[in-house]
Amino acid sequence: MNASWVSDPAADTAPELSRPTIGVLALQGDVREHIAALAHCGAEPVLVRRESELAAVDGLVLPGGESTAISKLLVAFDLLQPLRARLRDGMPAFGSCAGMILLASEVLDTRLDAQHLNGIDMTVRRNAFGRQVDSFETDLDFAGLDGGPMRAVFIRAPWVERAGERVQVLATVPSGPFEGRIVAVREGNVLATSFHPEVTGDLRVHRMFVEMVRAA
Ligand code: GLN
Repeated sequence: MNASWVSDPAADTAPELSRPTIGVLALQGDVREHIAALAHCGAEPVLVRRESELAAVDGLVLPGGESTAISKLLVAFDLLQPLRARLRDGMPAFGSCAGMILLASEVLDTRLDAQHLNGIDMTVRRNAFGRQVDSFETDLDFAGLDGGPMRAVFIRAPWVERAGERVQVLATVPSGPFEGRIVAVREGNVLATSFHPEVTGDLRVHRMFVEMVRAA
């Protein structure tokens, strides 16, 4: 894992760029990694645990973690309906792994009582890559990003089993038994990856998201 960017002074802080306030849903999961990545990409990251905090952000990251736990906590913290409403109103959002699961319109292999947010018209299969490969890494091409293939870290990751008509497929698994499986998508202002760009030190996906928020 290369996290050299955490201490790299060359952050995206050009004065002519706006510094959007981007929340990280901080109920469970790898919140800190996203906070650090966003700060480095020229955003003002804030933790979101309350409706008032959600109301104040220009965009939201849903971290990796455990989607069924986050789902329960969304209900317990009275955030489920407000978050669905903000997504309906066009708030930009980015979900990695468990975050992707939460952003789906349909989830397979989850708990019956698990909630999701309908941020992207897609069916996501939870823990899709199976037990024997709970965790793996691969290099993949990510549409719209310069700089060559991206190292992608999958940790008990989901895949996208159905992508709706308006959903843009940004990355698929390039080879091996899971070749062709969809692992990054975008619909409108909502972006989701099966893998964890917040842990590799490659900030291109976060930069792309900060740009999406600036443009929204
Ligand atoms: N398997 C987890 C879930 O179902 C996701 C794993 C992750 O976010 N790394 O939510």
